[in-house]
Amino acid sequence: MNANRILVIAGTDSSGGAGLTRDTAVANEMGCDVLPVVTAVTAQTHSNMTGVRPMSASFVMQQLDAALASGTFKAIKIGMLGTPDIAECVAEWLERRSMPTVIDPVLKTSSGWNLNSGILPQRLLAQADLLTPNLPEAAALTGRPVATTHAQVTDQASEILSGGPDAVLIKGGHGNGANSLDHLFGRSGHQTFSAPRVINGKRGTGCTLATAIACQLALGCDLIQACQSAKEFVHTWLSAPSDASPSRRAQPLFAPQDH
Ligand code: PLP
Repeated sequence: MNANRILVIAGTDSSGGAGLTRDTAVANEMGCDVLPVVTAVTAQTHSNMTGVRPMSASFVMQQLDAALASGTFKAIKIGMLGTPDIAECVAEWLERRSMPTVIDPVLKTSSGWNLNSGILPQRLLAQADLLTPNLPEAAALTGRPVATTHAQVTDQASEILSGGPDAVLIKGGHGNGANSLDHLFGRSGHQTFSAPRVINGKRGTGCTLATAIACQLALGCDLIQACQSAKEFVHTWLSAPSDASPSRRAQPLFAPQDH
């Protein structure tokens, strides 16, 4: 196994578009391996969720202990937690370690199903080195309307930071304008990351960005470099006509036989 490992605590998505499958694909493309801890199994198509089966919190803990016993990792990415019990246990588990941790609040799927809405305790958010809400999630976390001005984004970021995360990246993918702007607020002030807006219906953008940031942190980048590289990675992926990147082009090991 590759020494550059990240621990991913997240749900599965049977359509393959988001969740743990997407996280693992991103990490592998960035040269990292994944220790996967499953919080919930979801039945999803690309446009709808048809069912969710959360794990028990104790079984999530059992997976975390087994992952820890299986190898070291250099960063943690958290996506769907699914139940308040799991969120509490994961928060308690994180309090006992010190490891770069990226939390994607991922409150709902784009089809509107609750993933983490209303279940993320303050003590969990306080463990984040980086929290990555999009504009509607920043609004939900602060109880305010979706920000439309820079001043509103800044206000929401301050309020989120007062709850404990070291930094917050408010993603502008749901905004308007030719460019999608992500705003990072934290100890090193405010930075903006920009890329031309691409709208093509690909899912799992939030998972992709948060996992790419966690991988870059695992590979030794600082937070600003990690956000910059991850933004470029997402833009390249969104701009590609399909998910098949040149490095992943499938080749049969043997020439196919005619039968
Ligand atoms: N399903 C799972 C299990 C996820 O973890 C996520 C995102 O993190 C989603 C769905 C959301 O995907 P989308 O917003 O692209 O529908």
